[in-house]
Amino acid sequence: MWFLILIAVSECIKPVKIERRPGKTGAIKLQTDGTYMQVDEEAGVEVKLEKAKITLNDCLACSGCITSAESVLITQQSQEELYRVLSKNQENRKFGIHNEVYTVVISISPQSRASLATKYGLSVVEAARKLTGFFKKLGCDHVFDTTFARDFSLIESQREFVQRYRNRNKENKSLPMLASACPGWVCYAEKTHGSYILPYISTTKSPQQIMGSLVKDHFSSMLGTTPERIFHVTVMPCYDKKLEASREDFYSDVYRTRDVNCVLSTGEVDAMSQQEQIKLNDVESVELDNWFNCLDGADLVSHDGGGSGGYLEHVIRYAAKELFQLEFSELNYKTLRNEDFREVTVEQDGKILLRCALAYGFRNIQNVVQKLKRGKCVYDFIEVMACPVGCLNGGGQIRPPEGVTAKELLSQVSDVYGSVNSRTPTENAAVAALYGDWLGGADSEKCHNALHTNYHQVEKMVNALNIKW
Ligand code: SF4
Repeated sequence: MWFLILIAVSECIKPVKIERRPGKTGAIKLQTDGTYMQVDEEAGVEVKLEKAKITLNDCLACSGCITSAESVLITQQSQEELYRVLSKNQENRKFGIHNEVYTVVISISPQSRASLATKYGLSVVEAARKLTGFFKKLGCDHVFDTTFARDFSLIESQREFVQRYRNRNKENKSLPMLASACPGWVCYAEKTHGSYILPYISTTKSPQQIMGSLVKDHFSSMLGTTPERIFHVTVMPCYDKKLEASREDFYSDVYRTRDVNCVLSTGEVDAMSQQEQIKLNDVESVELDNWFNCLDGADLVSHDGGGSGGYLEHVIRYAAKELFQLEFSELNYKTLRNEDFREVTVEQDGKILLRCALAYGFRNIQNVVQKLKRGKCVYDFIEVMACPVGCLNGGGQIRPPEGVTAKELLSQVSDVYGSVNSRTPTENAAVAALYGDWLGGADSEKCHNALHTNYHQVEKMVNALNIKW
């Protein structure tokens, strides 16, 4: 009974052994400090429930825990880890052990920045400068924006789609191409649908992991150092990104380091500022690092197509132009089953040339997967995201204050996120230059290794609780 109630509360489907206690147990109450109390009806007392500890390796990526994350302790990646490195750096500098000092790099996602900007009533640019000031005050060396890496991720997704379209046939499972930027979705596919779905998933790395390649490979050589001497931290809207950074595919055996060493959620960065007793508004603004920036003049820029990166928007526009020489000023998104399942088509003379969709949230994802398995999926490309509404609604974003609903907050964050100008990824001259200078061309092996990845079928757990999927 208690076991089942705990599952209902935390929404985690991982079986956890909970000792049954004597006495007649009753209702569970959520306390204001986030703990749960259960009433012992016989003794008439309330007993604090223990939290279930689940490591990253245990996690089934079921979204129940890692996107709500209320009652799960993910202990391997945390702000404590960043504080540990910063304090070790301070100690090593004090004793003159300079070769043991890490270069600390922070890469901030635009979704996290929008969430923090909303909480503190800042513009996107002000928030970026305050965050740069905050992390530099703590002792970090460089602060970047992951929009730069998303340029690469969008370009590679566009190119991969066109290549798959040209090589399409039923046997090679090249279409529909399913977007790969959401690790919640990728983990789910690996753990529940394995070899059947994986060939459809784009091999393009997510912006976080491309940022990892940029920082550990390119930036380290620019600094004249080696990848393991850089401690790379990303700030992301969800906990699933911690799982992604932990994948073996993103670990270098040569340098014995990960491309991303530590992932902090937006909420964890906010908690750090509270721990430091610093309000983001009061932090001294510091100009953004211009190594990997997304500045257009003094303004930050973003991508069209919504808070999850605009994969559909960019893939369909690029493919329409590349394959059919068609261009559009506006895309017409048609809502299907719900707001999180929308469709866009490219048509000519009444004939549909390309049909793409957005499928957000696990209900819609399940629907897509079932259609694919039955051979009834009509789409060429699907932007799949695990969170309803997408990344601005990630489980690691700042929660609404009292008196504000989740929907109201999300609408404010979306407005802030969308308040900057957008541009296409190919307009970024710095990215175009790096294709040559860093990667040795768009078709080189180095380019493939730095910007693409692999997926692996994970043995399915035989457990009755998995029926939740
Ligand atoms: S949709 Fe975005 S925020 Fe949600 S799990 Fe996927 S990557 Fe994370």
